[in-house]
Amino acid sequence: MVELLKEKFPGYQLVLSPERDKRPRVRQSVKCPFCPGHETLTPDTRARFPETDKWQIRSFENKYPVFPSTGKKPLGYQEVVVETPDHEQRPEGYAEDHFFALLRFVRQRMETISREGRGCHYITWFKNEGHLAGATISHAHSQIVRLNFLPETLAKAYRRVRFATDRESGCPLCEKSHAENALLEDKHYKLIVNPAGRLPFEMQIIPAVHVSHFEKTDERGLEHLAGVLRKAIGALTRAKPGVHYNIVLQNGLYHKNWNFHWHIAIIPRLAQFAGLELATGLHIMPMAPQESFAVLKKHLMR
Ligand SMILES: [Zn+2]
Ligand SMILES: [Zn+2]
Repeated sequence: MVELLKEKFPGYQLVLSPERDKRPRVRQSVKCPFCPGHETLTPDTRARFPETDKWQIRSFENKYPVFPSTGKKPLGYQEVVVETPDHEQRPEGYAEDHFFALLRFVRQRMETISREGRGCHYITWFKNEGHLAGATISHAHSQIVRLNFLPETLAKAYRRVRFATDRESGCPLCEKSHAENALLEDKHYKLIVNPAGRLPFEMQIIPAVHVSHFEKTDERGLEHLAGVLRKAIGALTRAKPGVHYNIVLQNGLYHKNWNFHWHIAIIPRLAQFAGLELATGLHIMPMAPQESFAVLKKHLMR
C-alpha cells in the first residue's frame, strides 16, 4: 500500500511506502542478488547487454518499488540497472567504453519504459553510490524511474525554467554553462562546479546545446558524455577516496511540452543536513565553490 501525503507546513509531498523497509541489506557477494548466477533472486530480466548469460549490464523491475506499477492508480515504475557483473567493481574503475555501453543501455530502457504503462509524466535515471547516498546493496547499480504524476516541487521548478526560457532572461542552464569556468569542456558538454551547490564538490554536466530530453542524445553525444562522466567520477574519487555520492539526471517533462535543458548533477554526500537547514530551509554550504574547483581541477589533471 502506497500513499501520497502532503505536509502543509512547510509544504512538501511524501510517498508513504512501508514495503521499502523489507529491502535486504547486502554488502557481501555470497548471496548478492545482483551477481551473475543469482538472477533467480531478482524479478525477471527486462534487458541485458550483451544479450547472453555473460551479460555486462542487466536490468529488472525493482522488487521493492516506491512507486508500484500495478494497482488502481499506478504511481510509476522503477527498474534496477546492474552496471557490472563484478561485485567489487566501483564506477571509477569502469573503462570509457563501459560508461558508453551503460549510457546507451539507460537511454534505450528510458525510451521503452516511457512508452509503457499509461501517462508517463517524467522519466529519469539516478545512481546511489554508497550507503550515505541511499544504496542498500553494494554491487554497483543505478535506477530508472518513471512517474505517472508530477510532484509539486518538480512542477514548480520546471515552471520557473520554462518562464525564464520563454519570456525573461533566457534558459538558466544555458546561462550557467556560459558563465562558469569549466573543469572540462568540449563541443558537446561542459563540466562545472555548481556555483550554488548545496554540498562541497557538487558538479554539473551541462550539454552545450539546449535540449529538453536526455533520450534525444545521439551516439556521438553519448560517447562524449561517457568520457566526461568517467573523468568527473575519477577526479571526485581521487580527491575524496571512498566518497559516497549520487548521480542524478534532471530530465525534461513528458506530460507538458515545457522547455527544459537536461543535465546531470553529481552530488557527493560529504555533509549532513542539520537543524538549521530543517528550521529555516536554508542550506549552509561550508566550502567556497572556487575551492572545490581548484581541488577537482588538480585531480582531473592526474
Ligand atoms: Zn554482487
Ligand atoms: Zn538551455
